[in-house]
Amino acid sequence: MGWLDIFSSRARARREAAIAAALETGLLQRCPVCREVTEPAGADAMLARTERLAHQWIAGDDNRARPFDGDADALLREIHAQRRRAPFDCLCDRL
Ligand SMILES: [Zn+2]
Repeated sequence: MGWLDIFSSRARARREAAIAAALETGLLQRCPVCREVTEPAGADAMLARTERLAHQWIAGDDNRARPFDGDADALLREIHAQRRRAPFDCLCDRL
């Protein structure tokens, strides 16, 4: 594996971990039909919970936070990046 592969698989692992955290707190949601990840209305209400969860994962050395090497801020930054990328509605809603 070249350095680029290592970098991109690490980036993917971070992306997936951030999305898993956001899905767990309801900051993001996944459509059961098309599997697209979207930002639900009122997601802001889940921000504090999401921040707590990120710190819990890091502090508890949770396996899901492993790609972040104990860096809760990096996990939170990735969660926010994924939220910014997420659309408000999925393909099903747009049809
Ligand atoms: Zn959908």
